[in-house]
Amino acid sequence: MPKAFITGVTGQDGAYLSKFLLAKGYHVIGMIRRSASSDVIGERLRWLGILGQIELVDGDLLDLSSLVRLMHQHQPDEVYNLAAQSFVATSWHQPLLTGQVTGIGAVNVMEALRIAHPQARFYQASSSEMYGKIQQDKQSETTPFYPRSPYAAAKLYAHWMTVNYRESFGLHASAGILFNHESPLRGVEFVTRHITDGVARIKLGLADHLPLGNMDAMRDWGHAADYVQAMWLMLQQDFPDDYVIATGITNSVRTFCDLAFGHVGLNTEDYVRVDKSRLRPAEVDVLLGNPAKAEQKLGWTSTVTLAELAAEMVEADLARLSKSR
Ligand code: NDP
Ligand code: GDP
Repeated sequence: MPKAFITGVTGQDGAYLSKFLLAKGYHVIGMIRRSASSDVIGERLRWLGILGQIELVDGDLLDLSSLVRLMHQHQPDEVYNLAAQSFVATSWHQPLLTGQVTGIGAVNVMEALRIAHPQARFYQASSSEMYGKIQQDKQSETTPFYPRSPYAAAKLYAHWMTVNYRESFGLHASAGILFNHESPLRGVEFVTRHITDGVARIKLGLADHLPLGNMDAMRDWGHAADYVQAMWLMLQQDFPDDYVIATGITNSVRTFCDLAFGHVGLNTEDYVRVDKSRLRPAEVDVLLGNPAKAEQKLGWTSTVTLAELAAEMVEADLARLSKSR
């Protein structure tokens, strides 16, 4: 039975990747950090019905010794580093923590592998935010980076260190440059889930408006369940490499609102209020990925349209809120 080790197993991607790997017959080991709210920490895994099927072990990206010990003890075939301080807006409030967790934390995992288990295949969760102030209309693996937030700068450091560990130490280390991907399990602080949760609240009479920041920002949004498959495909290749994972279609926050409000028969203009406190010190205006390399080399494609994604998320939020009322 192949063994996979996942950092960030309690997050959106960790949950979908665990489900995918379990279905493929993997033994999945998920690293969780100490929390005073241990009863709710596995909520996403529970939502997918897989909480009891994963071996949960404790460790922290900031604690190198915990990572060395875990690699030594479990000797996984594949290691997926999904853990991060992943919210761009927070990274301006906590730039040092973001650098430590999102940047150096990734190097801690690679160091643990170099010291204790260099045969493992390694996946690093790189991000389209690294393109920031875009240098090409459609971003591919060869597009220059221009990070616009502490989060993006930290991810870029981790990205280049992944390339370095591959070239310097022969680690089978791949980086997926994933464009935004969403699902009913997306954190509610991110814009899509903020919108679908808000739409559901308005529909159920629990709220009368939805506060939003920059509605003109454009993102290339896909479904997380599709994107975790690409992570696995990268680690099945003979040689490690970097891949852009995207749909190749970009849409505005406004369009996502129209899809989500439209799904329940409401109009965006009647409910959205622009809240200036939600604007960012520096904005990434538009992201649009070119997934040609992943399509050709991995045989990967995105399968969910934005309208389908918005509908699934609104329905999930309606069900969640109706149940908790
Ligand atoms: P989430 O924010 O949902 O999950 C982040 C995970 O990291 C959580 O499990 C969290 O644990 C864990 N974590 C945070 N700090 C530490 C730490 N110090 N030690 C150990 N674990 C820690 O992110 P997603 O699932 O959405 O994303 C997965 C990865 O992909 C992230 O690295 C993200 O930056 C990156 N990415 C995501 C994209 C997206 O659109 N979703 C796009 C491109 C890249 P806890 O539950 O305890 O907080
Ligand atoms: P990001 O691409 O990783 O920053 O993902 P987010 O979902 O957090 O933000 C996507 C875009 O939506 C950014 O350009 C934000 O400025 C924009 N946006 C507009 N209003 C909001 C809001 O209320 N919350 C969030 N999170 N983003 C917003």
